[in-house]
Amino acid sequence: MRIYRWLLILCASLGLAACQDPDDGPRHLTPEEIEKYKQEQTLKIDKYVEYRKGTCPIILTVPHGGTVVESFLTLRNTGNCPDPDFATDLDYNTRELADEIDKAFFQQTGKHPYMVIALIKRNHVDFNRKRQYAIPAGDDNVGKIYDAYHAYITTARNEVTQQYGHGLLLDIHGQSHSEDIELGYLLPPSTLDLSDAKLDSGTYVSSSSIPHLVRTNKAGHSFSQMLRGKDSFGGFLNRNGLECVPRPGYLSPGNNPYFYGGYTTRTYGSYGGGVVDAIQCEFRYSYRDTQSERLRCASAVAKSIDEFTQAVW
Ligand SMILES: [Zn+2]
Repeated sequence: MRIYRWLLILCASLGLAACQDPDDGPRHLTPEEIEKYKQEQTLKIDKYVEYRKGTCPIILTVPHGGTVVESFLTLRNTGNCPDPDFATDLDYNTRELADEIDKAFFQQTGKHPYMVIALIKRNHVDFNRKRQYAIPAGDDNVGKIYDAYHAYITTARNEVTQQYGHGLLLDIHGQSHSEDIELGYLLPPSTLDLSDAKLDSGTYVSSSSIPHLVRTNKAGHSFSQMLRGKDSFGGFLNRNGLECVPRPGYLSPGNNPYFYGGYTTRTYGSYGGGVVDAIQCEFRYSYRDTQSERLRCASAVAKSIDEFTQAVW
């Protein structure tokens, strides 16, 4: 009977609408089933998500810089996606910026960060959302792409945890509403508005994306110092010539628009436990726009990652 099964698959692949399998009685494939069969055979994850294994405990994730659109994949809209923060905006040139950060970091240190990069456009899937908000309802293929992206982050996080015992994940984004790199630690501006003493005396650290770093940093820095002191990531970025918040001298964005961290930062940082800390990095437009500015920015970011991790690990 095997030959009949083979004929069934051949008929399906040829687009024939009906075929008969003597084992199962009459079997009619609808055009939709044939199309679905063909797509499932051809779904190539590496066309939609790129993964590069690293050689140090740094992980860069880039969820919103993808540009691939696929006719057989469903587009997200507010009808098929119940996301309360629904958006499809492209974070322009963030893939290119992340690539330049990787290159600069390798030139400066001889090591590569782990890279998890969305190639598919945000109109199909928003990787920085929980699954039910990320994909169009009912499209299993988009679901598989979402799952692959997050499986890669999990793999990277597990390897970093086992090999190094600490790690830093930077979730790379782009914003166009301010002149800063907005560093998100899951803390809203109303929390960053508090004094250092208040931040350090409360339980705010446990709602941030860096409790492991605060507990273990070798300089013994407090929570507020790790957020915006001289050895904070913002402190190094600023000394290397980049505008950012929070940092020494610019402790809180106050009433300015500010993204303070999303699904990736919350899920893979040490908020939920573990030894990998996470910071969402929203790069201002001019740091991504031209190649010369991207190179300058990437070089400063790479240097800052190296200096920051040397100061705290
Ligand atoms: Zn984004």
